[in-house]
Amino acid sequence: MQEAWQQQLKECVTTPQQLTELFAIDATPLEAVAARYPLRISRYYLDLIEAVDDPIWRQCVPDVRELNAEGLTDPLGEENLSPVPAVIHRYPDRAIFLVSGSCATYCRFCTRKRKVGCSSMSLSFRELREGIDYIAATPQIRDVILSGGDPLLLPDPVLGDLLDRIHAIPHVEMIRIGSRIPVTLPQRVTDRLCALLKRFAPLYINTHFNHPREITEAASAACAKLADAGIPLGNQTVLLRGVNDDPQTISELFRGLLKIRVKPYYLHQMDLACGTAHFRTPIATGLKIVKALRGPLSGLASPHYVIDLPGGKGKVPLLPEYIEQRGERLLIRTQAGELVEYQDCR
Ligand SMILES: *Cc1c(COP(=O)(O)O)cnc(C)c1O
Ligand code: SF4
Repeated sequence: MQEAWQQQLKECVTTPQQLTELFAIDATPLEAVAARYPLRISRYYLDLIEAVDDPIWRQCVPDVRELNAEGLTDPLGEENLSPVPAVIHRYPDRAIFLVSGSCATYCRFCTRKRKVGCSSMSLSFRELREGIDYIAATPQIRDVILSGGDPLLLPDPVLGDLLDRIHAIPHVEMIRIGSRIPVTLPQRVTDRLCALLKRFAPLYINTHFNHPREITEAASAACAKLADAGIPLGNQTVLLRGVNDDPQTISELFRGLLKIRVKPYYLHQMDLACGTAHFRTPIATGLKIVKALRGPLSGLASPHYVIDLPGGKGKVPLLPEYIEQRGERLLIRTQAGELVEYQDCR
């Protein structure tokens, strides 16, 4: 039997033609963008749009600027860190396990936009099994992070089966799930899903709110259900030009998240993924925002501001001791102590 959320997924907007009809705009120029990077917007998320080009619109509606070739196809060098196709293993004790190739809404700024929603991202059972076998054969891995795509788009039995297998590996101490479902399809957070997830404690969920208007009643209810099931909730926000790149919006967002029991975990500097250049902000913007939050806001609302350096050099907290300005050049010190030149935007 199909669940209500599965029905909702079928009703997603997936073509520029539908946008033309819904918003009385000419979306023909977006055909080429959607042909390159898939378009999908859940009806729920679409309903959050109040006006063309508002912060919700910008996150989900294709933009011709995505065809700008500037940027890297694999900005984090993830492909070099994949011992098997479904696993990204950069840090010894934790690994990302890509278990789903699709999302309820495709974010236009996605770092994996070269892959999500495309056939190259759809994972076969064999690839999932190889992922589990790799984790089982690698005793250093204590922390498994399910990602994708959106792991919570998997049907309950498939998700349950995967979690069972990971949970059964003796050296895996905890599981994390990265999911934007509470933001883009909160109806997916059913009582049955919560009961299922509860069995795998300690299981953490990191979700992905970027704007205070995403904290709706439905999103709050979804987070409440998860929190009531004993699941600690964190949030990863991406700093996006024209969406949330000012202290006012970010502080409203972080305060709102704490009210729904979601702890701001990371504020991410946009990475250099191809087709996302128009979202990029200079590092100085992020530093200014972080500084404005410290003091006025609860320490709980002060996440680490991080950058994931190109070429798989890892995440670095953007603190003064990691940044060196030499004239026009901006250098960032990696965790390994190496100084890397960073192409900041203006
Ligand atoms: C970000 C990331 C993780 C998780 O890092 P935490 O700082 O522990 O949240 C794990 N693996 C890869 C490849 C990552 O990019
Ligand atoms: S939900 Fe996450 S993986 Fe999916 S498109 Fe958005 S950022 Fe990318």
